[in-house]
Amino acid sequence: MLSIQVSEIKKSPYCDALTGLHNGALFYNCLEQALSFANRNEKTLAVLFISIDRLKLINDTLGESFGNQLLRAIAKRLKSCLRRSDIVGRPGRNEFMVLLPEIRNAEDAARIARKFFASMELPFVLKKNEIFITLSIGISVFPEDGNNAKAVLNTSYTAMQRAKELGKNSYQFYSPSITKKDFERMVMENSLQSALRRNEFIMHYQPQIDLKTGRIIGAEALIRWKRPGAGLVYPKEFLPLMEETGLIVPLSEWVLKTACEQNKAWQNAGLQPIRIAVNVSARHFHEEDLTHLVSRVLEETGLAPSYLELELTENVFLQKLDRTVRALKVLRKMGVNISIDDFGTGYSSLVYLKHFPMNKLKIVEPFISSVSFSNAEEVIARAIIALAHTLNMKVVAEGIENERQLRLIRSLKCDELQGNIVSRPLPANRMARLLAK
Ligand code: C2E
Ligand code: MG
Ligand code: MG
Repeated sequence: MLSIQVSEIKKSPYCDALTGLHNGALFYNCLEQALSFANRNEKTLAVLFISIDRLKLINDTLGESFGNQLLRAIAKRLKSCLRRSDIVGRPGRNEFMVLLPEIRNAEDAARIARKFFASMELPFVLKKNEIFITLSIGISVFPEDGNNAKAVLNTSYTAMQRAKELGKNSYQFYSPSITKKDFERMVMENSLQSALRRNEFIMHYQPQIDLKTGRIIGAEALIRWKRPGAGLVYPKEFLPLMEETGLIVPLSEWVLKTACEQNKAWQNAGLQPIRIAVNVSARHFHEEDLTHLVSRVLEETGLAPSYLELELTENVFLQKLDRTVRALKVLRKMGVNISIDDFGTGYSSLVYLKHFPMNKLKIVEPFISSVSFSNAEEVIARAIIALAHTLNMKVVAEGIENERQLRLIRSLKCDELQGNIVSRPLPANRMARLLAK
């Protein structure tokens, strides 16, 4: 809760003794003046309501006097981000307020919020303790979010509470019309961002079997999110949002590096060498220079290119055709394997097979099952598989769960198999045990 209610702010006529900043009452007066000035001159102003995360915990564990020193140091850093005409107040123990009396637009206020976060990046060193501070900031903009001091303060406070729910170092604008769905999405986006920072992602590995010899010849690396309090979260729950927000790019880099490192570690441990297949999203493929990234990761991890396979989905081929072909050629020349994932679910154009230099076609279970229901489907499937073989590509059947499907893929002359019938995706140590068998 707000340590001092907005209505109480007016009561105390003094400056904040601890930090020398405006106390609640003085801040309130200044805000009223600034508002009437802004009103007369049709200007925009903003109030930032800043709450210091975990300050109560710090006080409780390290003592009040320690907390006081910390507050003084935080006040100093906040002020260093501002102009002289901006006003900082401390209305309650753990809160600061900032009045930006003249801004051009809301983005100006957001910029200041980000400046505040940056100013907290270095730890505070007090009595040889290193303390890292994060903030939650609510922003209210006049005239949109309130036309008097009380309204502006209240909306900035509400926005701060939203920011707090989003997690550390978040800011939020006041928005009365925000829907539950928008809000959940923001929470998710925010936790995904911190999940990356906090290394909450892990890889599982699903074996791929050579249908002729029955040996494990590869593994597909599949991402999972160990979300605190929620257990293991599967990619379909979070990858679409990561794609949308662009977080997929740093995530994919991490995936590639982790998978290559892991494969090299298995080899170093004397296990049978296998190929590691890494999924590459279309956005990552087109946004980054993937060829550079791949060659850097291979160099850093020491993995030979022939032990890496990139799985691309058909939507990769729907844009920037020339560039895509060029990049694929470079990768193939490096010795990296390329496969086309989930063939049979999208456009499944045979044109790709002809134009793109690929090693492997992965067909999925529904595609395979449809074969057993219709003669026409079977003819098509056989033709596609035969064509793939003519083009020197291997065909992998994915998602195989039962004997019936297994018999079918054998009769269709698939080369490899991946599916729960052999093993679900496994954590690295269990995959290693399987390889050792
Ligand atoms: P995908 O690349 O086609 O991966 C195969 C999916 O099928 C995996 O789901 C796997 O667990 C599942 N699967 C395998 N065998 C069976 C089976 O016998 N039965 C059933 N019902 N399912 C089976 P998962 O791990 O949930 O991944 C879903 C999709 O998320 C992947 O489809 C891939 O498109 C994407 N994905 C996963 N990891 C990554 C990653 O690291 N990067 C990117 N860009 N995408 C990823
Ligand atoms: Mg895949
Ligand atoms: Mg697949």
